Amino acid sequence: MARERLYLFDTTLRDGAQTNGVDFTLADKLAIARMLDELGVDYVEAGYPGANPIDTSFFAERRPLRARLTAFGMTRRPGRSASNDPGLAALLAAEADAICFVAKSSAYHVRVALETSEEENLRSIHDSVGAAKAAGREVLVDCEHFFDGYKGDAAYALACARAAYEEGARWVVLCDTNGGTLPHEVERIVGKLCAEISGDHVGIHAHNDTEQAVANTLAAVRAGARQIQGTLNGLGERCGNANLVSIIPTLKLKSEYADRFDIGVSDDALAQIARISHALDDLLNRAANRNAPYVGESAFATKTGIHASAILKEPATYEHVAPERVGNKRKLLVSDQSGRSNLFAELERIGLALDKDDPRLSRLLEEVKEREAIGYAYEAADASFELLARRLLGKVPRYFDVEKFDVNVEQRIDARGERVTVSMAVVKVKVDDEELISAAEGNGPVNALDLALRKDLGKYQSYIAGLELTDYRVRILNGGTEAVTRVLIESADEGGEHWTTVGVSANIIDASFQALMDSIVYKLVRSGAPT
Ligand SMILES: [Zn+2]
Repeated sequence: MARERLYLFDTTLRDGAQTNGVDFTLADKLAIARMLDELGVDYVEAGYPGANPIDTSFFAERRPLRARLTAFGMTRRPGRSASNDPGLAALLAAEADAICFVAKSSAYHVRVALETSEEENLRSIHDSVGAAKAAGREVLVDCEHFFDGYKGDAAYALACARAAYEEGARWVVLCDTNGGTLPHEVERIVGKLCAEISGDHVGIHAHNDTEQAVANTLAAVRAGARQIQGTLNGLGERCGNANLVSIIPTLKLKSEYADRFDIGVSDDALAQIARISHALDDLLNRAANRNAPYVGESAFATKTGIHASAILKEPATYEHVAPERVGNKRKLLVSDQSGRSNLFAELERIGLALDKDDPRLSRLLEEVKEREAIGYAYEAADASFELLARRLLGKVPRYFDVEKFDVNVEQRIDARGERVTVSMAVVKVKVDDEELISAAEGNGPVNALDLALRKDLGKYQSYIAGLELTDYRVRILNGGTEAVTRVLIESADEGGEHWTTVGVSANIIDASFQALMDSIVYKLVRSGAPT
């Protein structure tokens, strides 16, 4: 049976840009558009030309993309003609393949928000689609508040969708703008619309306010919709948009969808999706969601010893899909709960395979348990675990010694009369017989220490030049009579590799120092730095 085509429409650069704390530069937008192209989405909605300088300049020139580049904007304003609406003019002037209009489709919103008549809103949809078609663009119409509108006045919501379709819109997109609709409602309402407008002209745009944007999207596909709108990592206002990073693997790997539909994402591109998801987090300077389905660090992680031994025999026992299909990897957590199977498998994965009866295996397990009892967390700190194992096997060279360090924090009144706090660190390092002293200022003591430590490592400097700290997490643990601090540091390098290290101490600077040192030494080990 011939498979039907499902189209993917990405709105990370438009709806995703509404995320609290996200501010894309033009360079960010171009980089993300390239990632989306690499993934194989069909449409990239890049912004709202005329609404802000970045979006205007994005659309000022032709951007070479495989995906259809889409500009977003409003239908003509009530009471104006299409030829006399500056917003619409900016949209038509944009260098884009397609134009996506947002149109009201709820009678309530037409009355309260737009303050115009139902007829005028229909004419506005009609005129705007007509103008964009005349300009040679493919047209999409996002029917805003479609589901809520349908529940209030089904006939009017359908009339808006029909107006767009009859004027020649390629896609009529049904939006759950407030994100409150549930999957069974989406399925029923999309089904009603698809009885009037063929589903291969119907799209779904779901928001995640009841954490069902992905479920709502799949419900719409079941009911007949053939375009899916969403964002990378579910970025978006409030609770986000439908997450394409979860939807794409589901469409490709679950037979209910994979047997019926084709999408533009190849198997090879699917195997890059974890990397692309993390690359977006890096670009936004955010820590990746460890529990993200398919791509999260924990998505294929197992902590229980019994599960682990079953997974080693037959991965399908505890995995719903093979992690490598989405570019992720199986991880058997090494922790005080873990048995020898996890440890054995983890050592094998990092290339330190030991014989099952090797006494060093028991010693390492003991060591892990002892250290976790005082606060270390190796399941979260893969690189520190690897170093612990390597040290036990005598496989970590002594690259350098930190002979001493000194960190101070000073608060003073600056020249402008403002109170400022500055930190300064001095580090004395010995590399071979060479003593190196570095000092650095930072916005906090750990930052200063990190900068000083990495400022001059002599012959090793070139190996750590691409090292970057991407996340820093502190937790106070209340064990026994005194509190201890656990620091987890996530680092990345120029090759896009990520690793996490841990330090534990009653003193936060000392805990941070341990984690920083592990990160640097790990990088040297991985780079094959000579001793
Ligand atoms: Zn939206």
